[in-house]
Order: sequence, then C-alpha cells, then structure tokens
Amino acid sequence: MYPKAPSSESVAGKGAREIDDVMVQDPYCEAYFPKRRAVHLNFEGQDLQFCSTRCKDEFLAAQLEKKDQ
Ligand SMILES: [Zn+2]
Repeated sequence: MYPKAPSSESVAGKGAREIDDVMVQDPYCEAYFPKRRAVHLNFEGQDLQFCSTRCKDEFLAAQLEKKDQ
C-alpha cells in the first residue's frame, strides 16, 4: 500500500523543482537565461554570468576599451 500524501505537499514539491531552474540576466546583452547554463566570469571581485562565451569575451573587450580612455 502507498502512504497517503497530502495534496498540498506534492504541489510544493513541484514548485521547488521550478525554482531550481532560476533565471539570471546577462550583463552584456541583457538577455535572461537559466543559471545552470551560465558562463561564469570573475571580474574585479564580482561573479558575473553570461549567456555565452561570446558575450563574456565581448564584455571583457568593452571593459578594456573603457580603461584605455
Ligand atoms: Zn548574452
């Protein structure tokens, strides 16, 4: 026999699984994407998350240009 589970608990469990796939924003292209797919960069003590290695590279290039001016 299966143990009787309250229906409210199964709803809460489903919600927790959805929260696990949290969305983050790319600081370069400003797109939102799932955090588990993020490309991480530690930049001046900040942990930044990009949607792709290309955005990470272009963000870094933009920061270097800013420093030149
Ligand atoms: Zn991006």
